[in-house]
Parts: sequence; structure tokens; C-alpha cells
Amino acid sequence: MKKMCLVLSFTLILFLLLSCNGINNDHLKADSRCDFDNPLECNIYNGSNLLHYNNGFLYFYNIFPNIPGGQPEGRTLMRLDIKTNLVYPVCSKPQCTHNDLSCVYYGIYPCLYLNNDHVIFTRMVLSLENGEMGVSNEVVNLINGEKLIRDSITASSGSIIMKMLFWKDFVYYLSDSSKSEEGISAFRWNLSKNTVEEMKSFSEPISSENSEYDFLAFMLDNQIYYVWDHTLYSADPDFSNEKIIRKDFDVLEALTDGEHIYYGVQSDKREGIETFYMTDPDFRSITPLGITAETGRVHVTENWIYYVKYDEISIGKNRVPGYEGDEIILEGSEIWRCRHDGEGHELVFRFDGELANTRPLHEIIVGDDIYTLYSYWNDDDQDDVLRDGDQFVSFVGDNFIIMKIHIPTGEVSYLDGIPD
Ligand SMILES: [Zn+2]
Repeated sequence: MKKMCLVLSFTLILFLLLSCNGINNDHLKADSRCDFDNPLECNIYNGSNLLHYNNGFLYFYNIFPNIPGGQPEGRTLMRLDIKTNLVYPVCSKPQCTHNDLSCVYYGIYPCLYLNNDHVIFTRMVLSLENGEMGVSNEVVNLINGEKLIRDSITASSGSIIMKMLFWKDFVYYLSDSSKSEEGISAFRWNLSKNTVEEMKSFSEPISSENSEYDFLAFMLDNQIYYVWDHTLYSADPDFSNEKIIRKDFDVLEALTDGEHIYYGVQSDKREGIETFYMTDPDFRSITPLGITAETGRVHVTENWIYYVKYDEISIGKNRVPGYEGDEIILEGSEIWRCRHDGEGHELVFRFDGELANTRPLHEIIVGDDIYTLYSYWNDDDQDDVLRDGDQFVSFVGDNFIIMKIHIPTGEVSYLDGIPD
């Protein structure tokens, strides 16, 4: 089932081959290490992200070339080998068309979770129950294709778990409590035994700043950290020995690199824009990091903290129905990075020149490359007026185009995520 993906830039493979030989590395002054720079796994995993990375492959859902029998909005799980740029369906079943429910890697609004050898996804399927169209979840272990039993234990069919925290053989997540109607519980799913335990119930309201089911944070020093009712707690992996780490902890997001804690507080910019701070696990000192970014746009890798810096740039007058404001304002024109200690901020890439109307929308950093799904505004007649239909989004409709930015050189290339 191997199929060639379309490589729009033919220089790409050359750059991949040469990138560790010190050629063309003067784009950034700081050392661009050639040790492979992986995304970190100690933070909560957002299953609704559009791009995922695991062991040499970029994973994503897209529309498989449509053959009758598929469900509306259905997507098929693909993977791209980052060494060869080849795109494959993950399913290797012979004769499978990968675009209806007989393919376990096909579904509606799927969520994907990847961690070491554990590759799990949740899919919604439309089903006729009692004559009515309903929605149900299925969770499949992608390694062996076996369906797992999470939903039969939590009885939370109909809800999709958006965020999971992986630790050793366990997956932590929040779902409806079995003990009270309003309550939420933290569950721990043992992937090797395929059993689920309800670990801790929360009955009080959670922080209003955090959406429901969204407050597990990270693992640090074999402790689980979570935010509940404006307080940061740590506990043993079985939720015993709970400690209050920080009160009045009103954050939009909290991350770790395994040593420091980073957290984002609502900034004075628009809603969802965070200002980041760094501290140690006991909060002895708090350092402002000089990072202002939208929630979800700060990425901790083994070597760096990458962030899409928040800015607003007008690119023309707005004549698009339903788009608010007199002008089309784009956010996030620059990608920056700094070291884990907050030192050495440097510009990684700026969307200007030919890319002045292009912005990354979802990105993942792997090694020396940024992979991003993006949007582009096309002002063909250059009258600085943008109209309906002038925006191209790289991952809607029949498109799934990934922009790849090679950090040491700034080279941009485009990968088609849809097999021929
Ligand atoms: Zn299939």
C-alpha cells in the first residue's frame, strides 16, 4: 500500500540528507543540534491535535479518496515517514478501502493519542439505536488492531476524551464519575492489562478558567500534577499522598520539561492569550519567560521551548461576510524558541515576504523541522481588499497540505498528506 506523496519542493530530500553535515547552518546563530529533538511525553496529550508524531512518523487524519460507503465527515488515519516523505494509510489490511467503518482506522471526529509503543485512537461512529441516529466511541490499539474496553468500564459512551496523560504503562484521563451524577473522576487505564480503575472523584467545581475534563497537567518526578479549584496539586501515581503545591493557581495551561514547571496566565491581550512563567517544582522562584502566545502554541521539545509569538498584523480591508472587524488581522507571524531555562530566545521563522499572508494554524516540531497546517489569504488583484473565497486553509475539503520548515536553513517545502 505504499504510495508516493507529492513533494512540491524537490530540494527537500537534499536538505534532509545534508542537514547534519553543517551545510547552510548559518540561518540561526545558536547551535542547531543534530541530536534528534523529540516532542516531550511528560505533558498532557491533546488528542484533538491535527498533527502527531511518534517514532519516525507523522500521524494525521484526512479524507481518503472518496469511495461510496463512507460516512459524512469521515477521516482515515494516515502516517508520513519523515525520512522518505511517503504517506501511507495506517491500516494494512488487504483489500480494505479505508473509508468506511469496516476499517478500524476510519471514523468521524477521531481523537488520536500516541506514546512510545502505545498508539490509541477514539472514533465516533454513527449508529442506528432504537431507530435513532446515535454516536458511540471505539478505542483501538493501533499496534495490534484490538479494540480496547475503556468505554465499557467508564460507561461514558458518547463523550470523547480529548486529553490523556501517559505514564509508563498507564493512561490517565478524566471522565464522568460513577459515584455522583455531577461529579468527575480521574481514571487510570492500564494498557498492558487493559483494565481501568477509577482513582479519584472530584465533586467541587473546577477552575472556571479550565474547561471541564481539562485539568490534568503533567508527570514530574514520578508525581502526577493536576489543577483543581484554582489549586495545583501533586500526588503519587495512585493519587495517594496528595500535596498542595500552589494556591490561587489560575492558569490556562501548565507544562513541564521534566525539571521546570511552565505555566500560562491569561494576558491582557484577547481571551486565550497567555503570558508564560517558569518555576521549579516547589515554586521557590518564579521567572517571567517573555513568552506571550495562544494556548496550545507553546511546545516543549527535548532541547527547546518553541512558541508562536502572539502578534497582530493587518493584511487588508475586510469584505468577508461573517468576519468581524474592518480589517483582516492575522496573528502569530513569528515562531521563536528558547532554552529550557528560559535563556537564549531566538527567532526561528518569520512569515513575511511571499508568506506575509500565510500563518501556521497547527504545528509540531520534530528534529530540525516544523510541520504545520496553515492558512493563506490570496489578494490576487493586490487592492488590499480581501473578499469571500480569498482564504485557503490547507486541511479542509479535499486538501491536506503540510508545510515543512527546515529550521537551520529556513527552507520551506510542502507535503501532500493525501496518498495518490
Ligand atoms: Zn483500512
